Amino acid sequence: MVYPGGVTALAGVSLDVGDGELVAIVGPSGSGKSTLLNIIGTLDRPTSGSVRIAGRDVASLSDRELSALRAREIGFVFQQFQLADGLSAADNVGTGLLYAGVPRRQRREHALRALARVGLAHRTEHRPWQLSGGEKQRVAIARALANRPSLVLADEPTGALDSTTGRSVLRLLRRLNEEGTTIVLITHDRDIAASLPRRIEIRDGRLVRDDSPTAIRRTARGVAAQR
Ligand code: ADP
Repeated sequence: MVYPGGVTALAGVSLDVGDGELVAIVGPSGSGKSTLLNIIGTLDRPTSGSVRIAGRDVASLSDRELSALRAREIGFVFQQFQLADGLSAADNVGTGLLYAGVPRRQRREHALRALARVGLAHRTEHRPWQLSGGEKQRVAIARALANRPSLVLADEPTGALDSTTGRSVLRLLRRLNEEGTTIVLITHDRDIAASLPRRIEIRDGRLVRDDSPTAIRRTARGVAAQR
């Protein structure tokens, strides 16, 4: 992946993520982790190489088809939550479903179900400023899950939280993974990385390590490759 201006952010990276995996991407700041996550999530198109999601080469899709695939299959979680201040937790979660074309009443039902899944059934009408950092991240995770995507991508989901809250958010992500969601997350936290079944290390835009000692790899669905 070469950005305009000539920065080569990723080179020669080839990666396969199977259905049901829980993967940590680690590496120093500026090494290309977010670029990789954005490429996997189809937010960026690679300048060379290819990305396949659920067996489909995303380069063959129009922008519209790509947005539909993203809305259906992929949920995103960010370090700074990215919640809308003026909206309740339920509306923040429901907004994500707007783009997936879900009708209004169902959006609310899905949103409430997703909030219950992350343990926030009692906070549905709170605004983000009335919530703790951990609760905000749970709302963001509920938003990512609301449309039952097969893949959740999280860029430093615990980076803005204290370690206790971060651990509880990680426990939640683990549980969602056990319930079937494939999760790829970026983390700077060594303990978190060490506790996950598979770690991918990126340095200077290259994949320098990929350990998956215990992961059972099913490679039929998700594939991301980039050269
Ligand atoms: P990390 O997530 O590991 O901190 P990034 O993927 O954000 O790394 O960045 C990798 C490299 O690409 C860095 O050198 C960064 O400055 C550069 N980069 C990231 N985004 C852009 C962009 N939109 N335009 C130009 N260069 C970028």
